[in-house]
Amino acid sequence: MLEPQSEIQHFTKNWQQQLAEAFNNIEVLCRYLNLSQDDLPISAAAAENFSLRVPLSFAACIEKGNPHDPLLRQVLPINDELSAYPGFSNDPVGDLASATQSGILHKYHGRVLLINTGSCAINCRYCFRRNFPYADLQINRQKENAAIQTIQNDTDISEVILSGGDPLLLSDSRLSSLIQQLNNIEHVQRIRIHSRLPIVLPSRITDAFINILKQSPKQIIIITHCNHANEINNRVIAACNSLKNSGITLFNQAVLLKGVNDNVEVLYELSEQLFRHGIIPYYLHLLDKATGTGHFEVPEAEALALIRQVQAILPGYLVPKLVKEQAGASSKQTIL
Ligand SMILES: *Cc1c(COP(=O)(O)O)cnc(C)c1O
Ligand code: SF4
Repeated sequence: MLEPQSEIQHFTKNWQQQLAEAFNNIEVLCRYLNLSQDDLPISAAAAENFSLRVPLSFAACIEKGNPHDPLLRQVLPINDELSAYPGFSNDPVGDLASATQSGILHKYHGRVLLINTGSCAINCRYCFRRNFPYADLQINRQKENAAIQTIQNDTDISEVILSGGDPLLLSDSRLSSLIQQLNNIEHVQRIRIHSRLPIVLPSRITDAFINILKQSPKQIIIITHCNHANEINNRVIAACNSLKNSGITLFNQAVLLKGVNDNVEVLYELSEQLFRHGIIPYYLHLLDKATGTGHFEVPEAEALALIRQVQAILPGYLVPKLVKEQAGASSKQTIL
């Protein structure tokens, strides 16, 4: 059990140490949250398939003693994951698996995804990549060089999106060298980073990292991934402020999840809190239908009704676009 003193100490450590100390044991997490395992539908088999992983900064936002906490639901391995749901498969967005072979995924006009790592700081139970064997894969330099060469050769590419896994798990030196190579490609206008770390491990946003971004002549965009306003603690706010004050544009994408944020008040509060801290709500994704995630699904008709209600109470710029991934389409499909 973490005592308040050791919790304070934890947050004085660097992000790599904090990551190493992330919860990976259900019993220890339950003790920290004052929850009895008997009150929770915990599944050891689900944890075996896809391990528990939760940084303390995120776990600290879970309400103690609440078995139905919306943040806990995102990370706790439960029995529902073992149920089969029709239409759910191991590889609902198959192309990402192939992207990790080449390091690059070019589906939409003018922008490419660059995949450098398959690992994450947190294991979100609803994630489509939960069934991929490459969870801890690191793409080597050789593959990265080939990907950079592809971008260099294609003048139609104006935006490069660093994705994963979580690209901010790369070391500063890896990121710095990658960004410098992109800086040298004239037709690249923007570098976009898709990361859950500003929310779940905000200590990653160090001054050194921000300096790497500041030194780039390209426009830098960070897309955070936050599903519930409770995820935004003071450490997250400080990290977002530093990014914002360095001229970086912040957007957020969320996934619509049953029992987490499938509720007008929760979505309203999420948009309000994000914007208060300098992040613009961008996308609200329908769930990718990956095996083990069926219990998170919100049917499309229900999702549409929800977003209409949200639209009725928020200014247009605070209403995220409800989207879904569709194979073969030229963009994400907006549902409205
Ligand atoms: C989601 C995605 C993008 C980014 O799409 P935007 O609509 O620009 O946010 C780019 N490439 C691929 C392959 C994607 O899946
Ligand atoms: S951070 Fe993103 S990629 Fe990683 S487990 Fe969570 S949803 Fe999946």
